[in-house]
Amino acid sequence: LHNTIQELKGNIRVFCRVRPLLPDEEDSGGDSAVVQYPNSGELVGHAIELFQPQGQKYTFTFDKVFGPEAAQEDVFIEISQLVQSALDGYKVCIFAYGQTGSGKTHTMLGHPDNLDQRGVIPRSVEQIFQSSQALQAQGWKFTMQASMLEIYNETIRDLLANSRRTSLDSQRSDGGTPAKQHVVKHEPNGNTFVTDLTIVEVSSWKEVSSLLRRAAQSRTVGKTAMNDHSSRSHCVFTLRITGTNESTEQQVHGVLNLIDLAGSERLSRSCATGERLKETQAINKSLSSLGDVILAIGNKENHIPYRNSKLTYLLQPCLGGDSKTLMFVNIAPDSKSLNESLCSLRFAAKVNAC
Ligand code: ADP
Ligand code: MG
Repeated sequence: LHNTIQELKGNIRVFCRVRPLLPDEEDSGGDSAVVQYPNSGELVGHAIELFQPQGQKYTFTFDKVFGPEAAQEDVFIEISQLVQSALDGYKVCIFAYGQTGSGKTHTMLGHPDNLDQRGVIPRSVEQIFQSSQALQAQGWKFTMQASMLEIYNETIRDLLANSRRTSLDSQRSDGGTPAKQHVVKHEPNGNTFVTDLTIVEVSSWKEVSSLLRRAAQSRTVGKTAMNDHSSRSHCVFTLRITGTNESTEQQVHGVLNLIDLAGSERLSRSCATGERLKETQAINKSLSSLGDVILAIGNKENHIPYRNSKLTYLLQPCLGGDSKTLMFVNIAPDSKSLNESLCSLRFAAKVNAC
């Protein structure tokens, strides 16, 4: 149906998005000169330049670079075909990578109930429902199953679980012992699932919207010196799509994974100690494992180290093969974030080279 996407390049793409300066960053003295785009004035370009106070300049190029003026809709237009390919039976992963406060959650979720400010998850879900309805005229019937989980300190938590115990666990400052131990299972037939995970059949945006609210209530939020609301966990929204065509007897099984990764900041800057330090180490490990897996796939290595983290083990069937991966690298434009932005862009550049 929409198979032509991404045929020019490998199956991994990287889009860079620079958020606007926030009001309090503007007050502290107009830092925007540290990040520039050669084609300034345009919403979407291909290069980003970082300037260090000593005068060094770093240039990175990506498939797309979105400047601070790019609205949620401008971003979605560039990924809507990729989202659509999940309806054709592709396995799709879209990640948001970047330091805390760089705009990952804004990009992936945004404000789901504000039409203009909706991010990738609400827009993708709505597009998939609309397209699947349009395909009914050609004899297609679709079922959609949603799940939402969090990986925190290498432990999976079900964000849609209704049980009281789970919501109590999420309030425990030590991370707690989850009510249920969720395990990733890969079956010989290629089927992958997480044990005891809540799976909800959905058929409208309204249903998904209430799931997102349930998940938001249950997310683990920790305090660090960088950002009181920083997310210390990876959040994975999964939509499984099964389509059957009654007249042609065709079947499709697509998966759309939309992943808001934990903050990529390094230990030093977040002043992490104790429990925070353990979290940060777990985050660093899983983010570097994700990079390792993507690089190994890109280099067509025989051994892909999926097992090195929960995140990559969970997403194994959706990374590599003929699956499609997009990574957003989110960038904060203020001068205090310069070093962190450089780290993020270097990581993203490695991924982009795949
Ligand atoms: P992260 O999830 O990476 O920690 P957030 O998405 O929470 O970062 O963004 C941090 C702050 O910046 C939030 O207040 C968010 O609303 C704002 N923000 C991020 N990206 C944009 C954007 N493109 N336009 C306007 N505000 C943004
Ligand atoms: Mg966030």
